[in-house]
Amino acid sequence: MKIAKTVQFAALAASLLAAAALSQTPAPIPRNLAFGNETIREDTLRADLTFLASDALQGRMSLETGDEAAIQWIASEFAKAGLQPVAEGSYLQPVPLIEYRPDRGQNFVALRRGEKEMQWKFPEVLGGYRQDVDLTADVIFAGFGITAPELGYDDYAALDVHGKIVLVFDHEPQEADANSIFNGTGNTRYATTRVKVLNAQAHGAAGVLIVAEPNRKHPSNQERVARIGGSAVRTTPLPSQALADDELHIPAAIVSDAAAREFLATAGAAPSDLQSAMDKDLKPQSRALSDTRATIHFRNISVTTGTSYNVVGLLEGGDPKLKSETILISGHHDHDGMSGSEIWHGADDNGSGSVGVVVLAHAFAANAKAKSGIAPKRSILFVVFAAEERGLLGAFYLAAHPLRPLDSTRAMINFDMIGRNETPSEQTKGLLEIPADTTNRLNLIGALYSPDYNRTVVEQNKHVGLVLDDRFDHESALNVFFRSDQFPFVLKNIPAFWWFTGFHPDYHHTTDTADKINYVKMAKILRLAYLSGYQFANAATPPRFVTSPGAKALR
Ligand SMILES: [Zn+2]
Ligand SMILES: [Zn+2]
Repeated sequence: MKIAKTVQFAALAASLLAAAALSQTPAPIPRNLAFGNETIREDTLRADLTFLASDALQGRMSLETGDEAAIQWIASEFAKAGLQPVAEGSYLQPVPLIEYRPDRGQNFVALRRGEKEMQWKFPEVLGGYRQDVDLTADVIFAGFGITAPELGYDDYAALDVHGKIVLVFDHEPQEADANSIFNGTGNTRYATTRVKVLNAQAHGAAGVLIVAEPNRKHPSNQERVARIGGSAVRTTPLPSQALADDELHIPAAIVSDAAAREFLATAGAAPSDLQSAMDKDLKPQSRALSDTRATIHFRNISVTTGTSYNVVGLLEGGDPKLKSETILISGHHDHDGMSGSEIWHGADDNGSGSVGVVVLAHAFAANAKAKSGIAPKRSILFVVFAAEERGLLGAFYLAAHPLRPLDSTRAMINFDMIGRNETPSEQTKGLLEIPADTTNRLNLIGALYSPDYNRTVVEQNKHVGLVLDDRFDHESALNVFFRSDQFPFVLKNIPAFWWFTGFHPDYHHTTDTADKINYVKMAKILRLAYLSGYQFANAATPPRFVTSPGAKALR
């Protein structure tokens, strides 16, 4: 009896286990996609990534020889895959850059009020500009610097800032409010400094001072960047780079809380009260600051020009009508280079994403050619961007100089760091919960702006079985939403997600090496992207972009 019972129990347990295993067994891949899917192999990923992250490529610094070797390698792989060279017959789209090194000793922001002048320098003042700046103008407080008509919110309402310097708070109102029309506790497009400076420029401002919002519950951007720590050992700081023809052409300086308090001394309310008032009812608190004149003075130690390249290749769609539409699959090839004999290998960041784009180019092209396979109906543009680490420069360049029409670009899959298990580090400490087991976990960033896209990936995941995670869409401390190459395309109303395995202690350190990559997971991520990419390319209705996700809360 006892034995029988045990046997019975064991049999039951075994069948339960089998059922559990069965439920976790991924659904089979559609036959006509299997050929390409099988080309995504761990050994290829390892070999390619070991090369890209090797000492020989010297950390792939934008405009330096190691990155040029990476560019050539990616272009040659696109050629092997049979992609079309669509940058005027080339796989290389030139990205003209200006490299400059801000002179921290000379740069300052000054305040003149009556006869009194105050001046702040690094680290109370951060920022720089691609050319000399000598700007003096009256200062106007412009709240969070946001104009969001669809949310009924405008910090510039009834404000004339022509020729003035505006002072704005970083981020966005009601950040701690889960029900905020500004995406609850997550970010919207308006929370990033570039969008604020562009908005100031559009309103005619001559310059911008940005200060971290006074009532913030998170580190300022500068404190957050300092926490990464990986550049602390550099003998010379990383250079700044900018697009030579950047649409942004007014300077901005980030100033400390203390400096901002002085500027706002004639505002009639304390900075924290100004923020509290805006947080309370989303009514502007913008105002001219009487007797407040600012100077922004920027100098550079050096200014040089150079050209990097977005590596691009097109797989033309198989459908006579839909082939005019485009799916983007992207990553970035550059990283942080060298300092002395130290090399920032950038295996995860972003050797992993570069290899991912290359491997998918081969997979899609092979499947389109295979007897058992099908071609995607829409065309797929594969892009490995230049100078992401210097400010998403290659991506901003392509968004401004598109090789395919943006209004018929239906979806973008951007890979940046898809090779590691997310683990705690100084950067995320106290700011983000990290699940205990991340060995099979992938973060997707951007679902707020396209729930359709998200549904497609979730649906395709039945063939792959990753754990999908949306934590980064609900936090505003790490600014992840703005921090990779999908963002310039989100600004162009394209459903664009960043696929990201998360931070770890080797992030932006010399220890981000190829031996630490989880190749099993990386291959699964690429298979999921392959299957999702086919859906985006072939679905009758491509994913919609939601222009103003928070506006729903207004209804
Ligand atoms: Zn990156
Ligand atoms: Zn990076």
